[in-house]
Amino acid sequence: MFIPQEVEKILFTEQEIKQRVKEMGAQLTEDYKGRNPLFLCVLKGAAPFFTDLIREMEIEVQIEFIRASSYIGTESTGDVRLSITEFPDIKGRDVVVVEDIVDTARTMSLLKKYLLDMSPASVKVASFLDKPSRRVVEDFRADYVGYSIEDHFVVGYGLDCDQRFRNLPYIGIFKT
Ligand code: 5GP
Ligand code: MG
Repeated sequence: MFIPQEVEKILFTEQEIKQRVKEMGAQLTEDYKGRNPLFLCVLKGAAPFFTDLIREMEIEVQIEFIRASSYIGTESTGDVRLSITEFPDIKGRDVVVVEDIVDTARTMSLLKKYLLDMSPASVKVASFLDKPSRRVVEDFRADYVGYSIEDHFVVGYGLDCDQRFRNLPYIGIFKT
């Protein structure tokens, strides 16, 4: 298995991730039965989780992609950028935002506000990871969470450090 020297420890193995995503898919399938939800992938980090999660959905769903970024290296800049060209039409839709990790929650709270302005039927957030101890937007909660973790900087399964390590099939703690 490829473990770069920058990875200190594996936090979740490929098998553990697969199992957890399966469970999340089952929950979402149950909750969205008969509603034809729109799954919105927040690029780039959520891409692996997103493609795994939608294939666990045992109902009809549609997919869209947007882009957001706020990190440089391992530091959150607090300056969240949303790429809003060709924004999907979400009016009247049940939207499930699929994210890799909620940290300060600046990104998700901003995006959620932005989406709610477009008159969707509902907006929920499914994040594979959550770091509750890092919250700046204190009242923000993701509706579906794979794992809550301690304050580590993690890479793999879509998560990067300066665009590296996104392809690792596991989630590892980055050596800082
Ligand atoms: P927030 O706006 O919640 O602070 O930041 C969320 C975004 O920051 C995530 O979508 C992710 O791109 C990035 N991020 C937050 N924590 C980590 C981490 O531990 N590792 C990596 N690679 N990215 C993180
Ligand atoms: Mg992200």
